[in-house]
Amino acid sequence: RFITVEGGEGVGKTTNINYIESLIKEKNKSLITTREPGGTPLAEAVRGLLLDPVHRGMHPDCELLLMFAARAEHLDKVIRPALERGDWVLCDRFTDATYAYQGYGRGLSLERIAELEQLVQGGLRPDLTLLLDVPVEIGMERAGNRSDPDRFEQENLEFFERIRQGYLSRARVEPERFAVIDAGQELEAVQSGIRQALERLLDD
Ligand code: C5P
Ligand code: MG
Repeated sequence: RFITVEGGEGVGKTTNINYIESLIKEKNKSLITTREPGGTPLAEAVRGLLLDPVHRGMHPDCELLLMFAARAEHLDKVIRPALERGDWVLCDRFTDATYAYQGYGRGLSLERIAELEQLVQGGLRPDLTLLLDVPVEIGMERAGNRSDPDRFEQENLEFFERIRQGYLSRARVEPERFAVIDAGQELEAVQSGIRQALERLLDD
């Protein structure tokens, strides 16, 4: 099983990923947790390039191709081998983030992203994508006090609004893959939403 967690800035991905991990392990499933961009030494090095504010002027196509370059490596070294062993894979961000950030955020062609997705992944898609959704102002307030913002976190409100709407429109197009969680609720309600979304996968 391949589960991804998505969302904008300050939606509480880390806390909720720890919770999802505990639910899966409770069922005695063997699980690896990983992240994008990153997940292998090479892909983590690419992540370093992508996030470094020094590369402020990076061309959007360069950003897009680095995302998929890192993903090709991550799929080959970590994700596919784990799925082939029958392990569960929980990934902090995946290709939906590319559609949201590079597509809706940077304005790159969604068709072009779909072509790269096909090239790099073939038919591989997540079984379930948990989209943690909060209004941008709230997310930015939660995330905004970081002292060393990465290159993306230095973007403006409109950028993050496009990302939020981009994620939501992907969820509308593929409602059977996505579970949209209102992550602005109290933690207990968020966790209950996550439990419900995972039930179907955990019980078979
Ligand atoms: O998930 P995390 O916050 O660790 O991601 C690091 C940064 O990379 C974030 O600021 C996120 O906005 C950005 N990112 C991106 N495009 C992706 C994946 C992540 O801009 N496809
Ligand atoms: Mg971040």
